[in-house]
Amino acid sequence: MKIAFFSTKSYDKDFFETYHQQQGVSFKYFSASLSKDTVALARGYDGVCVFVNDHLDAATLEQLAEIGVKLVVLRCAGFNNVNLDAAEKFNINIYRVPAYSPQAVAEHALALILTLNRKTHKAYNRVRDGNFSLERLQGFNLQNKTIGVIGTGKIGASFCKIMKGFTDVLLAYDKFENDEVKAMGVEYVSLETLLEKSDIISLHCPLTPETKYLIDATSLRQLKKGCMLINTSRGALIHTGDAIEALKEGKLGYLGIDVYEQEEHLFFRDLSENIIQDDQIARLISFPNVLITAHQGFLTKEALQEIAKVTFQNILDFQAGKENENRVSK
Ligand code: NAD
Repeated sequence: MKIAFFSTKSYDKDFFETYHQQQGVSFKYFSASLSKDTVALARGYDGVCVFVNDHLDAATLEQLAEIGVKLVVLRCAGFNNVNLDAAEKFNINIYRVPAYSPQAVAEHALALILTLNRKTHKAYNRVRDGNFSLERLQGFNLQNKTIGVIGTGKIGASFCKIMKGFTDVLLAYDKFENDEVKAMGVEYVSLETLLEKSDIISLHCPLTPETKYLIDATSLRQLKKGCMLINTSRGALIHTGDAIEALKEGKLGYLGIDVYEQEEHLFFRDLSENIIQDDQIARLISFPNVLITAHQGFLTKEALQEIAKVTFQNILDFQAGKENENRVSK
């Protein structure tokens, strides 16, 4: 099996090289992202290995099928970037890595909370500059604050476990209650109650037509004034324009995001010498109470090891025609 990698970064290569030319599988790494404009690079390969911002729309999948590609292995959990109807139509098999390390993402959500709250990023820069003043660095205790968790699957559950170390007041909203989360003493409530009562809200549900803009002007109006909102899931869970308005009004007290709706034009690249054309991210960056990381929740040694291991197994299982629960279908 010859697999063409798209959107390859040094850390992908570092972890996938272990499996290169093992058991009849070989890899070729391309830095380009996959779209209908770059699909020709996959000619001569049996499968493609892609990440969160590669475009697997109907046109790309049709062209992949035309050049004989039968397999798409996602080195991520989310698959909102894949048109599953088209994949079925063009007989392309999609596999993902559903749970490479829920802790990695949950711990990153905590990093965003603590940084925003205790302003360690600002203190670090101040001290390096010889500025030892504490003015405007005040935070708040997390103890006894109400934490709201939207989506209590693998990452949400891991996040609840971590936050139990800070507070006993945890609220959750999900379409399906998770017994593991209930056993921790987390209380399931309606979305409205969670929005109204939480001091900090963390989003851990997938992006679906139902969850797109879950956080918009209407839901932002329901927040407790000064609430902290954290998003490590997918950018389009939040309506960015509405969040900017809520930040300007002070309704939203803090915003920590590891994902951004238009991230595919920005994230995973060094654009430091470029003029940023995206006015919304430029506005977000300008707020003192907004913290943005460029989709790095997954970026731990343990998670990358697991992604490479499971992706390789997905390729082997496909090759052997074996049933595998990581296969994504409609
Ligand atoms: P999961 O499938 O285990 O859990 C998702 C939960 O969301 C489920 O409990 C589901 O019932 C719930 N849900 C679905 N629709 C909902 C709705 N309309 N309202 C409320 N809850 C709803 O997924 P997971 O492994 O916990 O991952 C969650 C998301 O995290 C992924 O979909 C992905 O987008 C994101 N993610 C981000 C990174 C990163 O690096 N930042 C890495 C991995 C995953």
